[in-house]
Amino acid sequence: MNFTIAIVGRPNVGKSTLFNRIVGERKAIVDDISGVTRDRHYGTSEWNGKTFNLIDTGGFVPNSEDVFEAAIRRQVQIAVEESSLVLFIVDVTTGVTVLDEEMAAVLRKSKREVLLVVNKVDNGKRKLDASEFYGLGFKEYYTISAMSGSETGDLMDAIASHIPNQDIEELEEEIPKLAIVGQPNVGKSSLLNALTNQERNIVTDIAGTTRDSIHTRYNLFNKDVLLIDTAGLRKKEKVKENLEFYSTIRAINAVDEADICIIMIDARAGIEAQDLSIFRMAEFKKKGIIIAVNKWDLVADKGSNTMKEYEEAIHHRIAPFTDVPIIFISAIEKQRILRVIEAALEVYELRKQKISTSKLNEFLEKIIEKYPPPATKGKNVKINYITQLPIVTPTFAFFTNFPKYIREPYRNYIENRMRETFNFKGVPLRFVFRDKN
Ligand code: GDP
Ligand code: GDP
Repeated sequence: MNFTIAIVGRPNVGKSTLFNRIVGERKAIVDDISGVTRDRHYGTSEWNGKTFNLIDTGGFVPNSEDVFEAAIRRQVQIAVEESSLVLFIVDVTTGVTVLDEEMAAVLRKSKREVLLVVNKVDNGKRKLDASEFYGLGFKEYYTISAMSGSETGDLMDAIASHIPNQDIEELEEEIPKLAIVGQPNVGKSSLLNALTNQERNIVTDIAGTTRDSIHTRYNLFNKDVLLIDTAGLRKKEKVKENLEFYSTIRAINAVDEADICIIMIDARAGIEAQDLSIFRMAEFKKKGIIIAVNKWDLVADKGSNTMKEYEEAIHHRIAPFTDVPIIFISAIEKQRILRVIEAALEVYELRKQKISTSKLNEFLEKIIEKYPPPATKGKNVKINYITQLPIVTPTFAFFTNFPKYIREPYRNYIENRMRETFNFKGVPLRFVFRDKN
């Protein structure tokens, strides 16, 4: 799955209100899981069985007055290049403005699908007023009230109709796809370059099927891997005032495309809120994860305990999913850079492993004997059977007499025991509880 929708439009038209309506109301919110209390600018949601990423460009607008409009214009350009669908929001209460017309011109010229959305249509009169927006030159438009939710369902249907069918994950053997993701300047390109120089054995550059993401195919340890370039070929100068927006949208797309995410952080900064958001997104999408702590050469005190303390600090931030490889590297000094690829490939194999039903049920029997599911509402809760589903994401189905009475703490108990018994380092697991009948 890789479908990213960008909401664009000038300030105050209602972008964040619409974003919150689409992402905020639904369960599938990336940042909700992390408990990070800050403004969300991107998330994952679904409609009619179609899953998509949504990004609110308004959250990335630089503050300074003088760069404002030019920056917004360039931001629209990036949104067009990097997303799959653009929602262009305008405001019926102000009518068409000059900035609307400028954005419309950029959007009309692009090859990207654009849906024109007239917002703040809170009543019938405003619905008539909306016809003014035909002037922007799009074939049609959708009228909504993001605030009340009126007609947003029709908009969502239209959005979903643009998303290709997302068939059940295929099982076929593929080349492992690795993405190096992280904030600007943590050293992603440096690592990529270090690997490139180290390994002369580049097979080919494959232009990504989506956007201009480049997959470079390598042969490392006699294994083919595809490295997804998230940094982009684009000169950083060109995206300067939109660097955070640009790198965020690249990261979102890369996580979708990857099997394994190498989340890179700067050793001097530690895990920051943005890093955690990427981590949660990868976890939520059940991608394999390893953490590469780069610029280790700049850490002055490398005493024997430093790595351990550092690891504990990271665990503290990423909890409860702490069963993740952490590797300390220096891209510049080429320290442990191959170890990163090695670890990523290990996680790839662990993510592919299938555990036999007999082993799983032996395991289940043991852990239930030790600590059975607590009775709930006077009901005796039983788990009869467990099996791993034959799909890429490690998914375990539990058959029980009361699926809804298996609560979070017991689910966590199972997951922790499972991680002790089997090796799922760096692999998020999915559990489904089904009615035994
Ligand atoms: P953004 O800058 O484009 O993200 O705009 P916001 O989502 O922050 O909304 C700007 C203002 O418009 C806020 O005061 C919202 O409450 C208001 N607003 C958003 N959607 C609607 C709507 O459907 N109807 C009305 N009347 N107001 C809205
Ligand atoms: P990107 O934006 O994540 O692709 O980051 P770059 O690879 O462009 O690196 C940003 C800056 O950090 C550059 O000046 C690099 O030379 C520097 N850098 C990258 N890796 C390391 C490292 O391991 N050690 C040190 N000291 N500097 C590094």
